[in-house]
Amino acid sequence: MKNISSKEAMNLESKYGAHNYHPLPVVFSEAKGVKVTDPEGKEYFDFLSAYSAVNQGHRHPYIIKALKDQVDRVTLSSRAFYNDRLGLFLEKLCTYTGFEMALPMNTGAEAVETALKLARRWGVEVKGVENGKQEIIFAAENFHGRTITIVSASTDPDARVNYGPYTPGMKVIPYNDPEALREAINANTVAYIFEPIQGEAGVYLPDDGYLQAVRKICTENNILMIADEVQTGFCRTGIKFACDHENVRPDVMTLGKALGGGVFPVSAIVADEEIMKIFTPGTHGSTFGGNPVASAVAYASIEVLENENLDKRSAELGEYFMAELSKIENDKIVKVRGRGLLIAVVFEDNFEAWDVCMAMKDEGLLAKQTHGNIIRFAPPLVISREEIDESLVIIRRVFNKI
Ligand code: PMP
Repeated sequence: MKNISSKEAMNLESKYGAHNYHPLPVVFSEAKGVKVTDPEGKEYFDFLSAYSAVNQGHRHPYIIKALKDQVDRVTLSSRAFYNDRLGLFLEKLCTYTGFEMALPMNTGAEAVETALKLARRWGVEVKGVENGKQEIIFAAENFHGRTITIVSASTDPDARVNYGPYTPGMKVIPYNDPEALREAINANTVAYIFEPIQGEAGVYLPDDGYLQAVRKICTENNILMIADEVQTGFCRTGIKFACDHENVRPDVMTLGKALGGGVFPVSAIVADEEIMKIFTPGTHGSTFGGNPVASAVAYASIEVLENENLDKRSAELGEYFMAELSKIENDKIVKVRGRGLLIAVVFEDNFEAWDVCMAMKDEGLLAKQTHGNIIRFAPPLVISREEIDESLVIIRRVFNKI
């Protein structure tokens, strides 16, 4: 493929690509660590990290080596046969997460679909709910992906509009409200799926004790607690998984994004054997799920998190970064919130954060607004304190002009 300019790249995407995104006008041409470069050679700090898929930094050398080594051996087996990477990856993922079994898929949405299917079947085969009557409870403002079933439970009008008929068997309750969960459960309820911190909603943190309360209610009512850690998992919030902040062990975790080290789409669900045994041959699957390249990349991606203590780094630098952001005085900023290196600056209602993101882009820092008035800051976890300081200079300069 030939080299093209930023303008050409944007024109081509806009002409030939469906307009299902509204990107900031910047083109990635090269990337390394926390920095990306456009075709004209301008450098930027990446403070989105592909929605937390690049926790280990762009093109981490250890992960790239694992990828290159693997593509020289074998790339695809399908699950019709075994391959000599998948078992090692599953063992690693189970050890890392503390669950007995894992089921590999490719994207976050597929992991969520897998968990929902597991819950429905479990409801019939273990709980005794009549097939067709199963109900799953979701939280308002959730983001779990883009399939028909998942958007059926979305409260975001853009995500849902005119995609009916919607999947039945879903209830949506307010987030961060244990009593609402308790009240929504009936004899046909099989699971509650939720994000331990709502990422796309604007880094919305539940009150302390919420995760514990959800655990208790799910146990008391014999329903599965499914934590969607696709965005919050793998050290993003300063600890391995966001549920760890309250020492809570869900029944099922959905995982994705950083599991592929920013290199390859890899997702999975993890659960104990007692629950995972619901899946029997032929009842679920994916041609590419658990392929040798994905397995090698995911294995290396987890090793990087461990070897570089990215949980601690995320906690320490996140605390520092959030404290510095909080010191910025500006009437339009309502609050700074977050955990680890998943941080949001919330501006007043109706504030247009797009313009701020554009101004930061011009100064060499990339972040994206969510819900119009919220900017999420989520750099790769390999960022250094010096790089955070350099970024703060840019952020302060732009925020002071608002
Ligand atoms: N769950 C959560 C919590 C997410 O944040 C996302 C993506 N933003 C998804 C699921 C869907 O992941 P994917 O885009 O890989 O399907």
